[in-house]
Amino acid sequence: MKKTIKNLDDLQGKRVFLRLDLNVPLDENGNVTDDTRIAAAMPTIKYLLIKGARIIICSHLGRPKGERKESMSLLPVAKALINYLPLTKIKFSYDCIGEKVEKMTHELKNGEILMLENIRFYKEEEKNDIVFARRLARLADIYVTDAFGASHRHHASVEGVARLLPNAMGFLMGKEVNTLLKITEDAQKPFVAVLGGSKVADKIYVVMNLLKKADAILIGGGMAYTFLKAKGVEIGQSLVEEDKLDLAREILREAEKYNKQIFLPIDHKCAPNFATNVKPQLTSGQDIPKHLIGMDIGPKTVKLYSKIISKARTVIWNGPMGVFEFDAFSDGTNKIAKAIGACHGTTIVGGGDSIASIKNLKLHNKITHISTGGGASLQLLQGDLLPGVEVIENI
Ligand code: AMP
Repeated sequence: MKKTIKNLDDLQGKRVFLRLDLNVPLDENGNVTDDTRIAAAMPTIKYLLIKGARIIICSHLGRPKGERKESMSLLPVAKALINYLPLTKIKFSYDCIGEKVEKMTHELKNGEILMLENIRFYKEEEKNDIVFARRLARLADIYVTDAFGASHRHHASVEGVARLLPNAMGFLMGKEVNTLLKITEDAQKPFVAVLGGSKVADKIYVVMNLLKKADAILIGGGMAYTFLKAKGVEIGQSLVEEDKLDLAREILREAEKYNKQIFLPIDHKCAPNFATNVKPQLTSGQDIPKHLIGMDIGPKTVKLYSKIISKARTVIWNGPMGVFEFDAFSDGTNKIAKAIGACHGTTIVGGGDSIASIKNLKLHNKITHISTGGGASLQLLQGDLLPGVEVIENI
């Protein structure tokens, strides 16, 4: 068992380096347009404040690639944080390392917050540079992480600095890790995994690992066509990853060997070109005419997948069932979201697109766990260790 902040004895007056994932969307005026990630960090922040800690918040925002970019500054996020904590003094440092910021951490009083500028403004962050990590460690007495969304990265603020200080997970990270590990270790059966999205390469190893654990894997979205082609089905002009065909064939063979079921779409909504204003054409079966692109799962597939989901006691879902950004092809994703919302078992949803559709349909209260880290949760489901979790001390 990994340590959580509940296992830390005396936080009074301690400087806590709190690594968060505040990678929130900003509009052109720098306003935060979705503050889900700020809200998700609040239980840990409030707990640390009540315990009298001095909090130094560190996060990344976007991909500035080691350069200072005003459009990716965390200053607007610090301002948004004030709405959540109107009575707390929140300071901002334009530097993440150096004498000036070190001095600011020593001047912090109990129950105050210092927010650091975007950590990815420093090239050393993504290189997990040890000197940089040491300079970050000088800012604090304890390291706490709630940055589940970044925990699969070997970065200085995720892994390097955590090694140098007594450490623990925050509430969000603890919930993410425990829920996902429980799923991979002893999920209630029938255990159904629903995977979609465009890139087979991202999820093929997840399919492979889940074959050992899940009873059924339902595949939709662009990634389905590589599997269909691997089976010899005509997929027309649909998305395909030719270099993954052999692996897809191997996975389908393995599934048969272990008596596990991989379901692929049995009908499709298609279009002659990849555009919004096209009238969907429905196929009657699994084959797609040579001139068409598969854009969404069809109604027969929706019915079949929904029935399997309704009987499941555990469901995990990651990735849309079609090009859901286009209204004409959003039906499959929305109907699968509804089926998962109606399922009485444990339901876990990860990945930006799947979460967006759950939120649009106002189903988030019907889901057991919405994972804040798409990539990290997939890596955990794939059976890989996460550097940001591994580095946390055991109880
Ligand atoms: P990913 O980033 O791999 O999770 O994929 C998400 C993207 O997959 C979304 O932007 C969808 O529009 C896209 N997608 C889903 N189904 C299809 C499809 N049949 N063809 C092309 N793109 C798709």
